[in-house]
Amino acid sequence: MSVEKPTRLGILTSGGDAQGMNSAVRAIVRTALDRGVPVYAILEGYQGLVDGGDCIQSMTWDSVGGILHRGGTIIGTARSDAFRTRAGRLQAAWNLLEHGIDNLVIIGGDGSLTGANLFRQEWAGLLAELVEKGLVNQETITEHPNLKIVGLVGSIDNDMFGTDMTIGADSALHRITEAIDAISSTAASHQRAFVVKVMGRNCGYLALMGGLATGADWVLIPESPPDVDNWRELMCERLIAGRKAGRRDTIVVMAEGAHDRHGNYIGSTEVAKTLEEAMKEEVRVTVLGHVQRGGAPSAFDRNLGTLLGHAAVESLLSSDSDIEPQLIGLRGNHITLSPLMECVEQTHAVANAIEEHNYEKALNLRGSSFVEAFQTLRTMLRALPRQPQPGHNRLRLAVMHAGALAPGMNSAVRAAVRIGLDRGHIMLGVRNGFQGLIDNEIFEMNWMSVNGWASRGGCELGTNRMMPSGKDYYHIARSIELQNIQGLLIIGGWAGYEGAFQMLKAQENYPAFNIPIVCLPATIDNNLPGSELSIGADTALNSIVGAVDKIKDSAVALKRCFVVEVMGRYCGYLALMSGLATGAERVYIDEEGVRLKDLQIDVEGLNYGFSHGKRLGLIIRSENANLVYNTAFMCSLFEEEGHDLYDVRQSILGHLQQGGIPSPFDRIQATRLATRSIDYLIDQVEKSSSEGAFIGLQGKEIKFHNMQDFERLVDIKKQRPKEQWWMDLRPIASTLAQPSPRHEIPKELAQPG
Ligand code: ATP
Repeated sequence: MSVEKPTRLGILTSGGDAQGMNSAVRAIVRTALDRGVPVYAILEGYQGLVDGGDCIQSMTWDSVGGILHRGGTIIGTARSDAFRTRAGRLQAAWNLLEHGIDNLVIIGGDGSLTGANLFRQEWAGLLAELVEKGLVNQETITEHPNLKIVGLVGSIDNDMFGTDMTIGADSALHRITEAIDAISSTAASHQRAFVVKVMGRNCGYLALMGGLATGADWVLIPESPPDVDNWRELMCERLIAGRKAGRRDTIVVMAEGAHDRHGNYIGSTEVAKTLEEAMKEEVRVTVLGHVQRGGAPSAFDRNLGTLLGHAAVESLLSSDSDIEPQLIGLRGNHITLSPLMECVEQTHAVANAIEEHNYEKALNLRGSSFVEAFQTLRTMLRALPRQPQPGHNRLRLAVMHAGALAPGMNSAVRAAVRIGLDRGHIMLGVRNGFQGLIDNEIFEMNWMSVNGWASRGGCELGTNRMMPSGKDYYHIARSIELQNIQGLLIIGGWAGYEGAFQMLKAQENYPAFNIPIVCLPATIDNNLPGSELSIGADTALNSIVGAVDKIKDSAVALKRCFVVEVMGRYCGYLALMSGLATGAERVYIDEEGVRLKDLQIDVEGLNYGFSHGKRLGLIIRSENANLVYNTAFMCSLFEEEGHDLYDVRQSILGHLQQGGIPSPFDRIQATRLATRSIDYLIDQVEKSSSEGAFIGLQGKEIKFHNMQDFERLVDIKKQRPKEQWWMDLRPIASTLAQPSPRHEIPKELAQPG
């Protein structure tokens, strides 16, 4: 066993295309070249591997430039019957040997990865056969005794074990939520019902998450078909009750693999017909089809492809030559490696469980987040909450915001209110943040008060950055007593966290503050402790990436450098992640600061690049990266030093980053965190606890932290956590965005980022 540097590396995309495959291709090509490993693209998937010739092409740094924003895969994909045969794989092996390739990165679904595994298992036998036929000599075989393979899952279905998310699933969810949002508005205008069919074969992920994100009224997924035979009547009854309760539209979302509990396929037309008969109105069917695979990749998919692609090459460079194929995946925000075939087998186990009608097993195999999301969905789509049992202790729980606006705040309130009501409690809404708490602007909310909020941008309850001080505490205490608030959920940013922390510190002087308070992270800045991601940050990231795509397009005919300023205050998350997603060659953040030396290197790098054929420069800076070397200063400096080589434009993106409708991820996480927060509050009140806590996503898990830890975990002056997981991604961003591989550019310019 030995760790050998791969001689040559091949990359192919196979099976159905998925948005984000291009960023993976770019990352693989550039990481390999940066490490001095020649890399080849195998065009048209396994068919290209069998055909060889022009289908195997040497890649350069520039051949993957400008592709991050493009959907599909630039190296083509196909389904190949030839590769399923041994003769085809023999030809494929010969083609690889011709190019000296013995390392492969395969991006595809479970079928493609199964094929890859088989190919690797057969490698020695295929080579022996080639020698026997006189097509290669013994020396060639000795040089390439093993085929090393890593797999990345490129599939919109999100149906694969070994990764929380497959490349393309988030973009497909974007397409689905955009479509259902659009359908909902027309459906509500006409008080109409729609049946929307989404992709996913055996996997209900897209239907479930699409339904949860858009506030659908009924969802059919293969893993958990309706558990009664008269489900049609039940569905109609519930949907009619929903209309009576005030819903103007009715949306049924179904996965393409939906079936009843006996395994009988459920068709969308059949569902529409059933609804038409029961509701006595016209029901429309929309089959979303290939739209879901199309369009620009989301920010998440671009970064997912980049990180997985980079890790794939690193893994090939550092592993033993006879290592079994690995699948590179994501767990929480961390890259993981798992034996590829175990992942494929587990994936097939779900399909088998569905086939055997063992739905409990199928659902559980999808994992705890999936199960939890399904349970939450079932509550959310009720026409009205369940009635509390006689003698049930109805708590009075309040929900409010604090801090700047973050997309997804409404989704969080909707979930909190509905979960609280369904658990039998009284839910109160506080208007305008802490000011509303001071002014007693508090009102009771019911099931329909939050109808339609799942997808709504802005913030219906109102929010602001106001933080209460000592003089306000008396009024807040009075409001809490007057309203008899027993637990408080604050959905917001820094102002909410610090406000809650100060209230807890004042508990001794204000007995009314002896209630449990939970803070839920909602800020585009992603600068809160205890949570790797806050609600709103994903939407802001997508808004930035969309805007930068347009800015880049605007300069096609010119030689131009853009300096784009993004929000984040003293937290560089948005700057770094948008830089990674757009291929910015330089990202400036306060965490690293800006030195004159950096700017000088940038000037030299830009001048070198633009005098060697570069047409576009992109620099992203966080708004407070350096208050002296600000955006205007940087632009003037580059303009002056760039002479006539290029011109410079600044773009300060401003509040478009806070607006817009929330992304599917933000809606789903908001719903998840709010559900957990309300359950936690109920539990705390029942235990007579008056502790404060903040909730957050850590890795794959949702965790609560004691509010007492707030000060210990943060840099109060800079208003950001002491530990920021995403800082580890900086070297990847700067390696991939270099103008050319490190070993090819002049030494003094070798470290632009
Ligand atoms: P998607 O999830 O988008 O359908 P997939 O990778 O599962 O992607 P498949 O059509 O199952 O798509 O597989 C793609 C290609 O991988 C096939 O056309 C075939 O060339 C190859 N392949 C799949 N399964 C095998 C196998 N068992 N042996 C050899 N090759 C296979």
